[in-house]
Amino acid sequence: MRDRFRRFMYGRYGSDSLNRFVSIASLAMMAVALLTGAGALYWLGLCLLGWAYFRMFSRNISRRSAENAAFYRLEYRFKEKWRAARTRFAQRGIYRYYRCPQCRQQLRVPRGRGRIQITCPKCGTQFVKKS
Ligand SMILES: [Zn+2]
Repeated sequence: MRDRFRRFMYGRYGSDSLNRFVSIASLAMMAVALLTGAGALYWLGLCLLGWAYFRMFSRNISRRSAENAAFYRLEYRFKEKWRAARTRFAQRGIYRYYRCPQCRQQLRVPRGRGRIQITCPKCGTQFVKKS
């Protein structure tokens, strides 16, 4: 049985991080759907699970690795955003954050200095804000 499974999986993609994420998400969706009776969510979860199995048994390994790499990039961007938000929250008593009206660069200024003129270090635009 084990041997047959190994032979079946030979040349197929198998599991990866994206598949683990998708499987867990789909099971969570189906669990929520069963608790709340949301039929659409159940079908969506089932489709996601089907997609995870499709990827696992796929023979197009380069395509599947490219998908996984894209998933890693997304995950990295999301984690970076989350990290930045946490830093901002931790420093909320010391700094205020503004965006440059010209280039959208995020700027950090110390709190409690009254109205100050801020010069964007990226593009040189000056604007006045309350600190
Ligand atoms: Zn700027």
